[in-house]
Amino acid sequence: MAPPKLRDVEAGQDAVIAVAPELRFLLHPRLRQLPGIPVRLDGTSTLLHLVESLGIPRTEIGGFAIAGRAAAPGLVPRGGERVRVDPVPRPQPAAGEGFLLDVGLGSLARALRVLGIDARYRNDAEDAALVAAATLTGRVLLTQDRGLLRRRSLARGALVRGQGRDAQLQDVLERFAPELRPWTRCPACNGAVAAVPKRDVAPDLPAGTRRSYEEFSRCSDCGKVYWHGAHAVPLCALVDTAREVVGRSRRAPPDGTGRSGGRTTRSTAGP
Ligand SMILES: [Zn+2]
Repeated sequence: MAPPKLRDVEAGQDAVIAVAPELRFLLHPRLRQLPGIPVRLDGTSTLLHLVESLGIPRTEIGGFAIAGRAAAPGLVPRGGERVRVDPVPRPQPAAGEGFLLDVGLGSLARALRVLGIDARYRNDAEDAALVAAATLTGRVLLTQDRGLLRRRSLARGALVRGQGRDAQLQDVLERFAPELRPWTRCPACNGAVAAVPKRDVAPDLPAGTRRSYEEFSRCSDCGKVYWHGAHAVPLCALVDTAREVVGRSRRAPPDGTGRSGGRTTRSTAGP
């Protein structure tokens, strides 16, 4: 669709994009320190397009504002306008249908499952198949690949910050503050885990385990049996930390970014 005639005359001028500090790590290193980035207008590029071109996926954008007022992602800016780009507020409403994790996030998937969070993981999917699977099943695609998040067909996604499981887990918990139901999901396959009488599993247990433990649970999908042995101690610490992080995120002020000041209304960028 052609942009409004009025705005055609703006081509060739600059607008200035002011990116919130939380999103600046996504910019080219040369641009990260700038309070405002001049961008040349072509009269047709929308706010969303201009900001995505700077390397910020739409899933990470909470809203745009011009002169303190919310601006729609589809707006074509005028020359001389200063556009503020805010991050997605935290906590972001959690995914009703759970998460789908990209290749390379297997450790994060297992940690989320320990917490009872529905976390499907595929390490063999092509990009297109992954995006389609997330969208078809109503899941949020968790990835560290910005290219995936630029795909138009993706309904919901999030860029996972951090290297290593613990940092990534903290990021996802802070961002979505999901409902935690520890020990209800199979870390190996994401199936539901339920308590099972000892007599049902006793024949398959090592003798020492059979002697030492009374309570067991079993995965309804893969049949794996679980008990709270010494191996569970680090996972208990993981559960405790997760409860703290989610509690903190839920108590955070409405803008949820942990930073204060200067925020006004915001609009939603994309689906
Ligand atoms: Zn299982």
